[in-house]
Amino acid sequence: MGRHGYAQREAGVTPFWGPDFDELAETDPEIASVVLGELDRLRGGLQLVASENLTSPAVLAALGSTLTNKYAEGYPGRRYYGGCAQVDRAEQLGIDRARELFGAEHANLQPHSGASANLAAYAALVQPGDTVLAMELPHGGHLTHGSRVNFSGRWFDTVGYRVRRDTELIDYDEVRDLARAHRPKMIICGATAYPRLIDFARFREIADEVGAYLMVDAAHFIGLVAGRAIPSPVPYADVVCATTHKVLRGPRGGMILCRGSLAERIDKAVFPFTQGGPLMHAIAAKAVALREAASPRFRAYASQVVQNAQALAAALAAEGMRPVSGGTDTHLALLDLRAVGVTGRDAEARCEAAGITLNKNAIPYDPEKPMVASGIRVGTPSVTTQGMREPEMRRIGGLIARAVRTDPGRPGGTETLARLASEVAELVAAYPAYPRG
Ligand SMILES: *Cc1c(COP(=O)(O)O)cnc(C)c1O
Repeated sequence: MGRHGYAQREAGVTPFWGPDFDELAETDPEIASVVLGELDRLRGGLQLVASENLTSPAVLAALGSTLTNKYAEGYPGRRYYGGCAQVDRAEQLGIDRARELFGAEHANLQPHSGASANLAAYAALVQPGDTVLAMELPHGGHLTHGSRVNFSGRWFDTVGYRVRRDTELIDYDEVRDLARAHRPKMIICGATAYPRLIDFARFREIADEVGAYLMVDAAHFIGLVAGRAIPSPVPYADVVCATTHKVLRGPRGGMILCRGSLAERIDKAVFPFTQGGPLMHAIAAKAVALREAASPRFRAYASQVVQNAQALAAALAAEGMRPVSGGTDTHLALLDLRAVGVTGRDAEARCEAAGITLNKNAIPYDPEKPMVASGIRVGTPSVTTQGMREPEMRRIGGLIARAVRTDPGRPGGTETLARLASEVAELVAAYPAYPRG
């Protein structure tokens, strides 16, 4: 039996009925092998996807708990079902922790994902057909910021702003001009592939000038805000949407912070407008992550995440990969590979063969199609959770550069990539993800 399995329960040692791997292995060996295989993958390679992280055992324990069984439509103290006294405590703790950590007047922890949080923000603030000003996807925006294949582009009249060609920074003058010309009801800032700080005060000024709401999509960087590594959007935004599973290192899910005056509209937009019953196990796990994120240890973590991203960007720059915008202030860097003569798609595949997981990414004004792309995106949340620091980032920069330059179609290429994979395995063995008991 596992640490929290029947044995202890029967002995009355702990009332907790938590994840018991033996139980899974017995009931469903196929899924058990997936879980083990994924753990091996995490332990055996480098995870550099900027939107991923490695949750703590405490977060996983809450996620794998019996709270998943409870129907709790509504909010703490106002539910449509009985038996909610316990889950009410979890959600209230989470709300209180979020408000305290971010200095927000109101918090909603029920969105199932970042995209669901954004859908609720649209539902609360605008009507179908209204104009919304947001960053263009190829310049770092998200699908929910107006893509034609998403509800946002289908149901709203979206106008996109870009980064400047010369600096690759948000063009605030263009944002202001577009806002004046189109009079949007809502302006969105926050991105999935923008390595620099965003001037929230400037966005607030522009939104005020045209009478628009300001929604900050902090999905990627809310964890850096929690750890005080970058400035907070909370004082400037009407609504801040976020995920809980990126730098914040919580369970997969969403979160909304807002002014008290918008609390009721946000809550109603989440439930009953866009969602049904909340995922109480996930909400409890969000509460755990928020408690962890309020600790001095997490502050040290968040600042190391940024230092690591800067070290990695510098190491890659030294290898001829140009950091878009010249570097990074956050947990991620975007690298232009055109000078190396390798596409983002090929770079991603070569790194994968070398045990390095990262993603191809369009760079601003990318001449390639999105599925090919001229760049890659790297992020340091996971490797920093594993305890790596600047010296390891320099090593990783070298490993990425060698992988990217190795064509598996050339003689000896596959062998070189396999050799790199064993170097990667050796490096990560010293900083294991989920160390064995
Ligand atoms: C990741 C992300 C989202 C979506 O989060 P999901 O949980 O994948 O739905 C939304 N906006 C931005 C800016 C993101 O980076």
